[in-house]
Amino acid sequence: MKKKSFISKALWATIACAACTGLNAQQKEYPKPEQMRPGMSEYWTPQPEVVTPGVAQAAPSDAIVLFDGKDLSAWETPKGEPAQWTVHEGVFTVDKKTGDIQTRQKFENFQLHIEWQIPEQITGRGQARGNSGVYLQGLYEIQILDCYNNETYVNGQTGSVYKQTPPLVNVMRKPGEWNVYDIIYSAPIFKEDGAYRIPPYVTVLQNGVLLQNHTAILGTTEYIGFPRVVKHGPGPIILQSHGDPSPPISFRNIWIREL
Ligand code: MG
Repeated sequence: MKKKSFISKALWATIACAACTGLNAQQKEYPKPEQMRPGMSEYWTPQPEVVTPGVAQAAPSDAIVLFDGKDLSAWETPKGEPAQWTVHEGVFTVDKKTGDIQTRQKFENFQLHIEWQIPEQITGRGQARGNSGVYLQGLYEIQILDCYNNETYVNGQTGSVYKQTPPLVNVMRKPGEWNVYDIIYSAPIFKEDGAYRIPPYVTVLQNGVLLQNHTAILGTTEYIGFPRVVKHGPGPIILQSHGDPSPPISFRNIWIREL
C-alpha cells in the first residue's frame, strides 16, 4: 500500500508558492542606479583657452587683426593687387573707383568684428544711400546701408542676408556715428553632388543687438535672381564697393577669430 504523504496538499502549495516567490524576488534583483552626485555631471577637460578681452572692443588676444588703423596690408583687390582704399586718421574709406577689397587670408568658421560709419553728409535714398556690405567666404553678403530713416525692401536692409532674410530689428545709429557688427559664421558642408549637407549659418549683432539669430543661408546673395548653391572651400571677407553715387562709407577696428 502506498504510503500516504504526511505533507498535506495545502502545505505543498505553500512551499511551492514560497519557492516561486523567492525565484521572482531573485529575478527582480536588478542593480540600482548609483546615487547621483554633483561631480558625476561635471567634466574638466579640455579647459577653454584663457583669452584677454580687448579694451573698448579692441581685438582680444587670440584675434587676427585685419585693420588696426595703420594700413591695409591684410587686404587686396580680387585680382590680388594691393588694396587702394584710403587710410586716414585710424580709419579707411571706400574708394569706389577701385572696386571691392578682400582679405588676403581665407577663412572657414569665424567670429568677425567690424565697425563702419555712414558719413554725416550722406545723400541718396533706398539702396543708393551708403550701400556697402560684408561678404562671408566671398559669397554671402551681410548688407550695410544707411537705414536711419531710410526705407527699402526689408531683405535688403542693414543686417539682412541680402535678398534672403531681413534683420530682426533696425538698430541704426545716425550718419556720422559708428556702427558695430559682430558676425558669427559657420561654413557649409557639401554633399558629393555639390548640394549643402549643412548650409552656412550666420548670427549678426549690430551695436550689441541681435539681427540674425543662427540664420541658415540659402545660397549666394544675388542682386538679380535666386540664391545659387556653389560648392566652395575657405574664402575671404570681401568689403563691397557699391556703385551708388552717395558719399563713401568708412571702416575701422576689424578683427576676426577663427573657430
Ligand atoms: Mg550692399
